[in-house]
Amino acid sequence: MQVATGSSILNGIAIGKIRIYKAPKFEIKEALVDDPAPELERFEQARVKVQDQQQVLYDKAVKAAGEESAAIFQFHMDMLDDDDLLDAVKTIITDQHHTAEYAAQHGFENTAQMFKDMDDPYFQARSADVLDVGNSVISVLLGLDTDSLQGSEPSILVAEDLAPSETVRLDKSLLLGMITREGSSTSHTAILARSMNLPTLIQCKDISDDWDGKFAILDGYNSCVYIEPTQDLIDSLTKKRNEDLRQEALLQELKGKTNTTIDGKTIKVYANIGGPQDVGAVQVNDAEGVGLFRSEFVYLNSTEDPSEEVQFQAYKRVLETLAPKLVIIRTCDIGADKTIDYMNLAKEENPALGFRAIRISLSRKDFFKRQLRALLRASAYGNLGIMFPMIISLREVRECKEILEECRKELEAEGKNVSDKIQIGIMVETPAAAICADALAEEVDFFSLGTNDLTQYTLAIDRQNAKLEPFSDTHHPAVLKEIQMTIEAGHRHGCWVGICGELGADTTLTETFLRMGVDELSVNPRSVLPLRKVIRSIDLSRNPEEGNA
Ligand code: PEP
Ligand code: MG
Repeated sequence: MQVATGSSILNGIAIGKIRIYKAPKFEIKEALVDDPAPELERFEQARVKVQDQQQVLYDKAVKAAGEESAAIFQFHMDMLDDDDLLDAVKTIITDQHHTAEYAAQHGFENTAQMFKDMDDPYFQARSADVLDVGNSVISVLLGLDTDSLQGSEPSILVAEDLAPSETVRLDKSLLLGMITREGSSTSHTAILARSMNLPTLIQCKDISDDWDGKFAILDGYNSCVYIEPTQDLIDSLTKKRNEDLRQEALLQELKGKTNTTIDGKTIKVYANIGGPQDVGAVQVNDAEGVGLFRSEFVYLNSTEDPSEEVQFQAYKRVLETLAPKLVIIRTCDIGADKTIDYMNLAKEENPALGFRAIRISLSRKDFFKRQLRALLRASAYGNLGIMFPMIISLREVRECKEILEECRKELEAEGKNVSDKIQIGIMVETPAAAICADALAEEVDFFSLGTNDLTQYTLAIDRQNAKLEPFSDTHHPAVLKEIQMTIEAGHRHGCWVGICGELGADTTLTETFLRMGVDELSVNPRSVLPLRKVIRSIDLSRNPEEGNA
């Protein structure tokens, strides 16, 4: 048995085989062949193999999430039967004597472009699917079988590092847990892992390629992974995992109950989400609303800048499904660790202190307006809050509101319905915003404390830099003071104040936040019920020195 340690970002246990994850790198040379026949045959074999893979995924998805969620795999299979698409690839092989992989790359890319050029937003969005299927076919042709990415069995995925864009694309039904050599606890990959309820170990320096296929237990409680564990360990950790499942089932009894302390103070507990795919988790965990919809994941999930229509559909789906619950959608917070090729952002020396979030939106007005118009149109379908990220000044808030008003007028002139009850808020995630909270509160309906960035900027500790974790202190008095100042300033000006950073789910601070007067905590969906349990056990009428029973 080998034991490797790391830093755990979720208390939980995953038991299963290890799968080493290596993102495929395509290197397709433009070589010509004398005889096209073998290339046609190779293409056909790859096509059939990918069809089979998609069928397996389809069957799994139907079982796990129903027909609607599985429909995407059906679409992939249909595509692999589409005569026009297949002819496009075969013609490149037969007429131009190119290799099967070269022909597949160009055939699928041309078809994806055709989808992209269509007027219907549904078909435009399918362009990414065409490329995905094309990549699967090319992977098979290059011997980078997509099986080697996640396999067909649920497994514990081991990787050097995972970018947020890679993590969102992983097939969750095949994931038991994740282990990376790099990564930090407040990186977006870690946040995603928490929201996916995946035991995850980061900074595991001993990962090794020869773990591939070995049986292992990821023990999130003890921040380690056991490779080929002893039978005693398998027995005791299986028992512990079953106990976790039992406790989770017990939490279900808190559904429908209020988030009220023993002495009668009620606060709101909302959920953080990354897109329409997380709405089910909001409902299952009985969150009262969404306190943070990180809209940039709609952008990260797309291979091109999403159109107003594509965004409108995503926001509408969330608002409509959750109505009348409040859904706070944060405008795009791209930059820093969340980079997207199509945004063409220059490489920077200090990306966390650089061109990100509202700075990009205010510099690229068309880009910003596209999102604001989509949000305003979607507002007609539910209860919307709009929140601006990385604010440091009154000037920025006023400019955001002016552009929002400009969009509202445009839409009204176009005869489109827009709600007149949209709440406007800002993230308080820079020391500047916390210090100027009195002035900022005059401009908005609510504040949401982004403690991940607030901690990063207050302590001057790059949240992406794993080396700095020993210097970081998530309970640093300076951060707690800023939280208190922000809550008090907000309340002085009639603004409600929530916390949507990871600290909101830290139950060792729940009583402190309640005593500070926080109005809302927004946490990953699976933390909603555990947080409710803690809130219901707190008695604020007791002397804080005595603690709660
Ligand atoms: C935060 O900074 O606390 C926050 C909620 O935003 P993000 O983690 O997406 O930067
Ligand atoms: Mg932030």
